[in-house]
Amino acid sequence: MANIIDGKAISLQIKDEVKAKTARLKEAGIEICLAVIQVGTDPASSVYVGNKKKACEYCGIRSESYELPEETTEDELIGLIERLNSDTAVNGILVQLPLPSHINEDRVIMTIDPSKDVDGFSVNSVGALCIGRKGFRSCTPAGIIELLKRSNIEITGKECVVIGRSNIVGKPMALMMLQENATVTIAHSKTADLKSVAKRADILIVAVGKPKMITSEYVKDGAVVIDVGIHRNENNKLCGDVDYDDVFDKCSYITPVPGGVGPMTIAMLMYNCVVNM
Ligand code: NAD
Repeated sequence: MANIIDGKAISLQIKDEVKAKTARLKEAGIEICLAVIQVGTDPASSVYVGNKKKACEYCGIRSESYELPEETTEDELIGLIERLNSDTAVNGILVQLPLPSHINEDRVIMTIDPSKDVDGFSVNSVGALCIGRKGFRSCTPAGIIELLKRSNIEITGKECVVIGRSNIVGKPMALMMLQENATVTIAHSKTADLKSVAKRADILIVAVGKPKMITSEYVKDGAVVIDVGIHRNENNKLCGDVDYDDVFDKCSYITPVPGGVGPMTIAMLMYNCVVNM
């Protein structure tokens, strides 16, 4: 039977640490400000942006909100980011993705000043991670590292398999586990015999984007299973990429969905806003 990793509780610990830091900074006359930009009215994006603003409020971070219409041009958005880059009162800039299809996301992300790239998506931030330099770490994988460490799960020397190679989860996740001295394998849609590859893992991190794909057949006895996926099932209930009920008795630790990895992403965004202060 697995131990459940409580992402809600751990994310609250992190937000409380950030809150204590912003309070100390305020006493020294320093206010932290995150600029949050949303283009269009995609309902899922609006929920994420709303949650980020709420977390800022909780943590004592001032959030500046820019809700731009769907027809905003790429140049207008770039212009706003350039203005925020040079605004010394703004510490972090977050552009909610996805952007409308007429806007080039890469160009937009690359415009954000690397010192304000709190999402950690820019080439600078990813490059710094790759060569082990200081820099903003992508929030979801950084949150998973915190979940493991704060649950006292040993990473050094362990076999880690990351399923998924996206730029925002799979790849940075693999690099962060490598930095923590795991032996890392990245599996993906073209991996041959995924089951036997996944079964090598002491720590199996699943970011595959397919509801309940990972069953007990992919899991070694006693493995730690981290589920990054978020989906709505046929009954409109949240579920992950892992078949939780099927895997539960086989692993030593597991993250639930909801309440596992999800809350960590925003907590690490808050952490990134104060990490250099
Ligand atoms: P993505 O679609 O960009 O990447 C999925 C990856 O899975 C790809 O690299 C692909 O090669 C691999 N893949 C697809 N089918 C496969 C298969 N059959 N076998 C092996 N590998 C396969 O997704 P993403 O952005 O990395 O997100 C993954 C999941 O995590 C999604 O469910 C997403 O909603 C969720 N997510 C959650 C958070 C969070 O805060 N909890 C953050 C980001 C993403």
